[in-house]
Formats: sequence, C-alpha cells, structure tokens
Amino acid sequence: MTDGLIIVPEAEIADLVTPEDAFDAVEATFAAMSRKDAYNFPVIREAIGHADALYGFKSGFDRAGLHLGLKSGGYWPGNADKGLTNHQSTVFLFDADTGKCRAIVGGNLLTALRTAAASAVSIKHLSRPDSKVLGMVGAGHQSAFQMRAALKQRKFERVIGWNLHSEMLARLEEVATEAGLPFKAVSLDELGAEADVIITITSSFDAILMDAQIKPGTHIACMGTDTKGKQEVDAALVARATVFTDEVAQSTTIGEAQHAIASGLIAESDVNEIGAVINGTHAGRTSADEVTLFDGTGVGLQDLAVAAAAVDRAVEKGVAQKVAF
Ligand code: NAD
Repeated sequence: MTDGLIIVPEAEIADLVTPEDAFDAVEATFAAMSRKDAYNFPVIREAIGHADALYGFKSGFDRAGLHLGLKSGGYWPGNADKGLTNHQSTVFLFDADTGKCRAIVGGNLLTALRTAAASAVSIKHLSRPDSKVLGMVGAGHQSAFQMRAALKQRKFERVIGWNLHSEMLARLEEVATEAGLPFKAVSLDELGAEADVIITITSSFDAILMDAQIKPGTHIACMGTDTKGKQEVDAALVARATVFTDEVAQSTTIGEAQHAIASGLIAESDVNEIGAVINGTHAGRTSADEVTLFDGTGVGLQDLAVAAAAVDRAVEKGVAQKVAF
C-alpha cells in the first residue's frame, strides 16, 4: 500500500477507528517509547499573531511501528462562531523508508480517541482490579470520550462527577446512562471519598482535588494539564502518589508533575514511564492502598499511531482515497 497519497477525511474517522483500535495503538506506542524504540521530537507551539490562534507541531518516529510524521494544528478561539471546532488538527504520515508523504488524516476526533485511550491504558495497568466507582472531574468535550474508554477497563458499577460549571454535568449523565450505569453529581469531598478511579479532564490553572480528599488505593488519571501553568490536583497529592506518565520530560515541565517538581516535593526520578509497566520492567501498583497517578500530557507518537490505524482500516475497507503525489 505505498502507491499514491492516502487521504482520510475527518468525517470518515468515526467509522474507521474504534476506541479499542485507539487503545491498542496507544498501549503499543507507550511500550515502544519506554523500550526507546520510539521518540517524540521537540514540540513547537506558537501564538501566530493572527486570529488569536495558537499553532504548532507534535512529531516523532516509532521504529517499531514504523510511524513517522507529525500532527499539526492548534486552537482558533473564533472558530465556534464560524460553525467550526476551535481545536483543529491534521496528521501527516511519511514512509519511513523513503520519506514520501504517505497519508493525510483528519486529526480532531483522533485527538479525543488517543487522549481517552491514554487514560484507559493507565486504568488497565494501574487501578485496583476491584475498582467499582468511577469519578469524573470535568464535563467538557473530552470527558465523554474519557468516560467511554475508562468504563471498558474495570467492572464499574456507578459513575460520580463534579464540574465547575454544573450545567455541563448532563454530558456525564448521558454517557453513564448509555453504558447502563447510574450517575450522581457530587461534591469534591464525596468524589474523593467514594471513587476508586478518578479522571480529571479540565482546563484548570489551580488545584481542584486536594490530597486530603483522596482515599487510599485510588488511581487518578490527570489528563487536562498539558501546558505550563495548568493544574488539576494538589502538588501534595502528586508527592503522595506513585507517579506515572507518557513522557517524563513533558510531565515535569508541562504536565501535572510540574508543580510538585517546582516546589521540590518530588524529583524527576520519581516520575515513571507507563510504558515500563506495560513492558513489565516496572511493577506498577504494588499494594491495594497505594495511590497511583497517571500524568497524561499527550505526545505526538500517540497521534501518529492512531492515524496509522485509521489509514490501515481505510485500506482494509477499500475506502481509502488515493491521489497521485
Ligand atoms: P472543554 O473546553 O470542552 O471543557 C473544559 C472543561 O474544563 C469543562 O469541564 C470546564 O467546566 C472545565 N473548566 C474550565 N475552566 C475551569 C477552571 N478554571 N477550573 C476548573 N474547571 C474548569 O475542553 P476539553 O476539550 O474537554 O479539554 C479539557 C482539557 O483537556 C483542556 O485543558 C485540554 O487542553 C486538555 N487536553 C489534554 C490532552 C492530553 O493529551 N493530555 C488532549 C486533549 C485535551
């Protein structure tokens, strides 16, 4: 499948890539990163001085999966008024043997799927197997994808949730109902006391969940903090937890661990790769009382892996659009 350039439009992604495909792609990517078979190139992100936009590139190479390429795009705050999504992204895949551009793939839905897959991978590998209550902090666009992927990892019996803007909580209830589970809006104290697994997916710049609110044995996937200055949980909670991440360099600078690092509560060596747990070189959770925390910062290799899955599925189904290039 090397002749011509394959185009997979945004509108086709939903029919091509399942959450399970995204899970497998992201799990394999984290494992390859930890084996040093795959690495992310430095991220570029610039305010372009036009349309208030932030634009950038995330790129990398996975020698194991032979994924080479980049995701390019960013955030255009005025798009909603034009009927478009504010976040815009496109993935470009290149042939690792020749450097020829192999595919252009719509990256918006893929971003949600790969981000949800990352926290789901952490729940599979780090949460207590008997986890029954899922706690959601955040009810924006990503939250529905997060919840759907998480619910597949354990036999959850109910979902509880909190959001700064309470009118958005209906989204969480809808997804819980779709999965046949009861949903209850709760205070942060109740959330920390009852949830076995917590996902935070907000755009907060201050700690929402405090250390004292979290019961022993909880697994927390912090997914919202992907920029310097953002924060979702108390630095003391990060210090108490065994911390895992997709990429240590990002976790300590733009991820949730940045605050615990900056205040000297933890060192870079306290942050572990989730890939090491997948590969069996780190034991992961070692007791039922341990608090585990996954700092999901989002890496370009995740985007390349899910985009490659989209191309593979499009080819398999005979719907790949090809152009001479
Ligand atoms: P959204 O705009 O649809 O929703 C934002 C959410 O944050 C809502 O729940 C909102 O109520 C909440 N919120 C806003 N301001 C807050 C504040 N000051 N305190 C607490 N909560 C606040 O956004 P989304 O698409 O759902 O994305 C959520 C976050 O996830 C963003 O910060 C985004 O950058 C991040 N994200 C991370 C990754 C990754 O790979 N880690 C990938 C995609 C998005």
